[in-house]
Amino acid sequence: MARYTGPVCRLCRRERTKLFLKGERCFSLKCPVSEAVTDRHSRAYPPGEHGRDRMRQGSEYLAQLREKQKARRIYGIFEKQFRNLYEEADRLPGITGENLLRMLEMRLDNVVFRAGWGASRAQARQFVRHGHVLVNGKRVTIPSYRVRKGDRVTLRESSRQVFVVRRNMDTLDRQRPPWLEASDGGFSVEVLNPPLRDHIDEPVQEQLIVEYYSK
Ligand code: SF4
Repeated sequence: MARYTGPVCRLCRRERTKLFLKGERCFSLKCPVSEAVTDRHSRAYPPGEHGRDRMRQGSEYLAQLREKQKARRIYGIFEKQFRNLYEEADRLPGITGENLLRMLEMRLDNVVFRAGWGASRAQARQFVRHGHVLVNGKRVTIPSYRVRKGDRVTLRESSRQVFVVRRNMDTLDRQRPPWLEASDGGFSVEVLNPPLRDHIDEPVQEQLIVEYYSK
């Protein structure tokens, strides 16, 4: 399954905002776009030789493109898959942008991330790929698997002592969204309902994504 393997901090710099793609490092002073870093050391401008030149205001189209790229990068999805999701969201009843975000949130790798087991979505995705995660008691190794209302997502018994999982659970202190209910000491979550827009705290303006694809 294809995934981006290049330097991820470049992606944040391109979007000129923190996308939290690296777990712990994102909360430290090592983050190149951290507001706490002094101007001299900050690299909060697009990467590349002409990065600083790209700081100017862009067009409406550019804003739509950047918003789409930002959402794609937050959830770690390539263009083709993202467009397919958009088209599916467009066919569903309701607001297309919200449908799209809801579908992204209900990916299995995102649920593992939201449950607090993975420090980043990339790490959560790896847990799924390596077979650490069960859905309704069955092992599922497809990160894009979409959970449904009533599904129970569990970390396998033998995986609960994995050092990195324990450390994440002890140190991350991530708030679980209200559409997930934890049990079994936090090692299991149940999907109570598909998330509402208010439950999705990612800084994405979905309307711009819809405008981008509607052209
Ligand atoms: Fe890198 Fe995380 Fe900072 Fe993004 S938020 S630039 S991934 S350290």
